[in-house]
Amino acid sequence: MIKVDQDKCIGCGLCVGICPEVFQMNADGKSEVLKQSDSADAQNALASCPVNAISA
Ligand code: SF4
Repeated sequence: MIKVDQDKCIGCGLCVGICPEVFQMNADGKSEVLKQSDSADAQNALASCPVNAISA
């Protein structure tokens, strides 16, 4: 299950840019998971997070 650690996320928006089907920015300016997916884009977003806030 894909999760975003809200304490680690710095709100850079990269994951949302890479995979908007899975990630969206919330009212706190952090990324949150919209829906689960094992697509290549979701994996790319996970791997691209600069602070490793995304886990699966
Ligand atoms: S890439 Fe990482 S730090 Fe940037 S918004 Fe997504 S979860 Fe947060």
